[in-house]
Amino acid sequence: MMPPLKRIAEHILETDNFLVVSHITPDGDALGSMLAVGEILTILGKKVILFNESGLPDRFTWLMPCREILQILPDTPVDTIIVLDCGGVDRPGTVIAPWLLSKTVINIDHHLGNPMFGTLNWVDQRASSVGEMIGVLARELGIPLCGLLGQYIYLALISDTGDFSFNNTRPETLEMAAEILRLGLLPGPFHEQKQSTGTINQLQMRGAVLQQAKLYAQGKISVITFTKELFDQTGTTPEDTEGLVNTVLYIRGVQAAISIREEANSLKFSLRSKGSTNVQAVAAHFGGGGHRNAAGGTLIMPIAQAQELLIDAVTKALPNS
Ligand code: 5GP
Ligand code: MN
Repeated sequence: MMPPLKRIAEHILETDNFLVVSHITPDGDALGSMLAVGEILTILGKKVILFNESGLPDRFTWLMPCREILQILPDTPVDTIIVLDCGGVDRPGTVIAPWLLSKTVINIDHHLGNPMFGTLNWVDQRASSVGEMIGVLARELGIPLCGLLGQYIYLALISDTGDFSFNNTRPETLEMAAEILRLGLLPGPFHEQKQSTGTINQLQMRGAVLQQAKLYAQGKISVITFTKELFDQTGTTPEDTEGLVNTVLYIRGVQAAISIREEANSLKFSLRSKGSTNVQAVAAHFGGGGHRNAAGGTLIMPIAQAQELLIDAVTKALPNS
């Protein structure tokens, strides 16, 4: 049988009207890969609509995507939906859910345990990011990783690899980054733009959360929590929490980090780990998912109870426990 990449490339060339979707509250990989697919399809002369239920997060407005990201379903024809960076069929949100059952779906992803919900599925757990897979797809279609396409793929690569520092950084990842730099991207200005999106309120809120950071399991697990009250007091939002869980992961001796934040009607948890500690299994146990060293999910219960449950489950996932 033809490999998924070739089947997907062939399907793209034969199809006209696409809707491209990524997971709710998109990160740099979800957004970068969605915008990159938008570019590729436009270059191929296809009609393309980008959809994300939660829209473009504030911290990415500097990207100034030349194409609108819809938050409601379009009334123009759609033949195929390309779903990116979604480890489960629920990840794109509830608005698009009925369409995922009734249309041709291409599922391109790199999460552990992806249930292959597409008509065509290309799931590569070794890929650093979906952006890296989209770079491979562009090569397959003969499209160079220059200009906006290069920027979008680069954003995905640096977002999911922690600026090329996590375990998922492969030679292929760095080779793709090198290819993008050769074709003109300047990493200095790009990182400067990406990083210069914080606010003083955000920094102060993060300071308050770090003041309250705690260690458990003989210093092997770090925990931070973000309450709605703190967001209100500091004029910040859940989006301002991005990445802080990594800061407490790098405390000496810590093997896993837990972050819990209050959203409108639920709690969102993020788990990070070092080495062999598999936090994907912990997140999956609570209905979430992710990767071995970075996973997350949603819980509906008081924050203190969630904290206790997660500390207990992560402790059991530590090596030799
Ligand atoms: P984060 O903690 O940054 O939100 O997400 C870390 C990883 O876990 C990402 O790969 C993300 O896709 C995955 N993840 C986060 N929340 C969920 C969730 O609710 N369900 C699933 N299946 N995966 C999640
Ligand atoms: Mn990803």
